[in-house]
Parts: sequence; C-alpha cells; structure tokens
Amino acid sequence: MDSFDIAVIGAGPGGYPAAIRAAQLGAHVALIEREAIGGTCLNWGCIPTKTLIAAAHLREEIAAAGAMGIGDGAAPRVDYAALMAHKNHTVAQLQKGVRTLLASHGVAVLEGTASFVNRNVLAISNGSDAPRQIKTGHTIIATGSASAMPDFLPRHPRVVDSRAFLDLGQLPRRLVVLGGGYIGCELACMAAQLGAEVTLVELLDDVLPLLDADVRREVKRNFERKLKIRLLTGKPLENIHADSAGVRGMAGEEQIEGDLLLVAVGRQPVTEGLAIHKAGLHANDKGFIEVDECGRTEVATIHAVGDVTGGPQLAHAATSQGVLAAENIAAARAMGRRMRRAETLVPGVIFTAPEVATVGLSETQAQTEGRAIKTGRFPFAALGRALTERRGEGFVKWIVDAQSDQVVGAAAVGPHASELIAEATLAVRMELTASEVGRTIHAHPTFGEAWMEAAHAVHGACVHTAKMKRAGAS
Ligand code: FAD
Repeated sequence: MDSFDIAVIGAGPGGYPAAIRAAQLGAHVALIEREAIGGTCLNWGCIPTKTLIAAAHLREEIAAAGAMGIGDGAAPRVDYAALMAHKNHTVAQLQKGVRTLLASHGVAVLEGTASFVNRNVLAISNGSDAPRQIKTGHTIIATGSASAMPDFLPRHPRVVDSRAFLDLGQLPRRLVVLGGGYIGCELACMAAQLGAEVTLVELLDDVLPLLDADVRREVKRNFERKLKIRLLTGKPLENIHADSAGVRGMAGEEQIEGDLLLVAVGRQPVTEGLAIHKAGLHANDKGFIEVDECGRTEVATIHAVGDVTGGPQLAHAATSQGVLAAENIAAARAMGRRMRRAETLVPGVIFTAPEVATVGLSETQAQTEGRAIKTGRFPFAALGRALTERRGEGFVKWIVDAQSDQVVGAAAVGPHASELIAEATLAVRMELTASEVGRTIHAHPTFGEAWMEAAHAVHGACVHTAKMKRAGAS
C-alpha cells in the first residue's frame, strides 16, 4: 500500500492549492479527484460563468460604443456555439496550467472517488480497476458542493442546474430563472445581455437579500430598466411542468412560460460516498463538515476546507482555507509550531450588470448589531474617469465605526466593482481609518479615486460633491 504524509480529497480551489502548499512544505502528497482538476470553480462555476459574462458585457459595450461614434449602436449577432468553444478552451487552458503546477511540485494526482476505510486509510475507486488503498498521516477533505435540485422540480432536459446550463449548445430564447441569489442573478444578466427574454422568480421578498437596500436598488434598476429582466419576488414557482414545447409554472396568479428553467436555489455539501463515519467524523444537520478556527475537524489529523464546511462558499475562501490547512498540518508535524487561525474577512463579488462587491460589515448588519456607524458614499456619476467610459451608474460606500473612524465594511456597485473591492478589503483588513484612506493619494483619473472621495464624504469633506443647503438657509 502506498503511503503519503497528506492526502487531499477533491481538486477544486480548496484542494489543489492545499496539495501544492503541502508539497512546498516538504510533504509527500496525494491529490484525489473523481471528475475534473479545478473542481466546480474551474469547470462549472467561476471560470465558465465569467467567460460567458465577459462576452455578454463586451456585446453590450459594442452596442454602447455607438454613442462615442464607434459603430452603429446595434448589438452584434451572437454565435453561441463559438462562445461555448471559447469557454471550453479557456477552461482547458487553465486546467492544463493547474496540472503542470501539480506535477512541478511532485503532487501525485490519483483519479477516482475516495472513501475512508479508517482515519489513516483511504480507498480510491475509479469504476474500472479494483479499488486501490493508500495510507495517509493527515487528510484534507475538500469535496465541495453541488446544486440543490429540490424534489418538486420535474426531471426533464428543460429543467437544468447551473452546471448543465453552462454546457448548453444554444441560449434559450425565453429563460425562466428560479432563485434570486448571486448565481441566478449573474446568469439571468448574462442571458439577457446576450439577447434572451428573462423572467426571474424568487420566493423571498427581494433578490440578493444580503445586500444593503441602496446597493440592491441600484442593481435592480439596471435589471429591470436596461436588461428588461422581469423580477417576480415574494412568490414561489409552483405546478411546474416541462415537455417538448417548453416549461410552465405558476408564480402566484400568473402563468410563467419559458423554453428553459434554470434552477439556482442553493448549494449542498458533497460527502456522499466518502464514508466519513469510518474516520470518526460526523456531518452536521445540514450535511456540512464543521471545523474549528484552525480548519481542524473533530478528528485532529483530518482538516476540511471550502464549500463542504459551509461558510461563504466562495473559491477564494476555499483557497485561503486550503493553504491554511496545509500550513497548519506542517506546524502539527513539526510539533511545537503554533497553528494559525483562518482569515475571516472574505470579500464577495456578484458579477451582475452592474457588478457588486462587498467586504466586512454591511450597513444593515451594523445597524442590526446596534453598532454606531457613519457612512460615506461617492457616486460614479461625479467621477471623471467613470464619465470618460460612459459608466456613471452606481457608487462606492464605506461603513465606518463612529467612534474610532476605523473602516469596518465597504460596498461598491457599478463599473469594475470586482476589481475595486481589493483596495477596500486591504483597508478593512489593515484596520485603517477613513481619514487615512482619504489622505492616501490616489492616481487621477481612476476609478479608485472613488474610495478616497467616499472616505472624505464620511467627514463631510468631499471636494467633488455639492454642498447641501441647510434647511431654512436662504
Ligand atoms: P469544489 O470546487 O466543488 O471542488 C470539489 C472537488 O472534489 C470536485 O472536483 C469533485 O469532483 C471532487 N470530489 C468530491 N467528492 C470526491 C470524492 N469522494 N473523491 C474524489 N473527489 C471528490 N466563487 C467565487 O469565488 N467567485 C465566483 O465568481 C463564483 N462563481 C460561481 C458560479 C457558479 C455557477 C457556481 C456553481 C459556483 C461559483 N462560485 C464562485 C463558487 C465556487 O465555485 C466554489 O465556492 C468553489 O469551487 C468551492 O471550492 P471547493 O474546493 O470547496 O469545492
């Protein structure tokens, strides 16, 4: 039986960086994957969606360029098959890159499904050969999550989850999206920008419910007015039927029809077949494997990272946890070295049109916690660089502790929000004050200047916003 210092189960953005980091630290490492290197993120999540979203955005930009004297303002025709080929090429290219990285670090990649025989032995079966067993000192579980497909949904090719949606040969003319979380909203925008007629049904009172109301309002304005997405909130989609003619369902009193139903109602942890009980592990009542602040499960030699542990269910969180697990195992093996705690500040980006990005506390959260805060906002409509690109929609916002002036959260909605959030994340992580951010010279003309302006706005000292007339002043 082959023996490894560390076995990592699952090669997504949690597992493969854990394997590489462990190898860098001198461990003999096996990485076991049953489907595709890169996991959900690279194959059926972040990368394919953002490839399609980039194309959808480009189409919109080309149409908008008419106002700058470039082209005739018409949206170009979409060859969806060619777009899919580009998406598949991008995925393959990145997958090859990850394989090369793993090989260069000497990580043994074992293909098959892993299951525990006991806490130090794993069985790996690939369906064809007899299961192979390996011995391991430590294990990192990084088996991720899969789309939830509730039982009330008909099983039919016209009813798909995000994974199947990302492999469609053609874009449906009429798309119904069930679920107003970030995956549903991102794909709804993408489809609308590429020319589909989109209806989104959400059971809760609003889409993207974790966002502050002002941020949500800005996003929804674009969804409804520009992209013409129909938002039906506060209603379940019921009595769903699918056949060769299409998909139909009832949202309240209204009959909804489409060519395809995309189901985006949440993600569930993947532990089936792992036999975690044989290692002395238990999943919680929602199926997640719980870990402590250092990433350890209830069994000291087994760590778990990424979506399977619950938490933010984002690729960069999984990677941070994977690297931490590898480093903490190295510390445990060295005996006497202290384990590090997991980073808790995780930025979130929603790649809708417009993009949204948040980090730290939201205004609503701060208010719910009864924390005294101040806020500072700056609109892109007042920012030179945004207007050069005709992108005056949206704003950035700081949430600041009222007493200490420390920035405790931030939100950006509008152009390049996904990139802009990096500065805010660093500021919150480094516990900067709004005054320090405001005094930091930002290059002009850039989108980043919006953070500086918004930091000044916290103190009513923003140069580029008009002075408000005081009530009663003449
Ligand atoms: P996964 O990426 O799910 O990888 C787990 C791997 O384990 C899989 O490859 C699976 O085959 C393998 N596996 C499972 N069980 C076994 C077993 N028993 N033996 C061997 N192998 C096994 N996050 C972002 O941060 N940004 C985004 O823009 C973003 N967009 C997304 C869009 C969509 C449509 C979806 C679905 C997700 C998106 N996410 C995004 C979330 C992100 O993909 C996940 O948070 C991330 O992939 C989780 O990483 P992971 O390593 O925990 O698990």
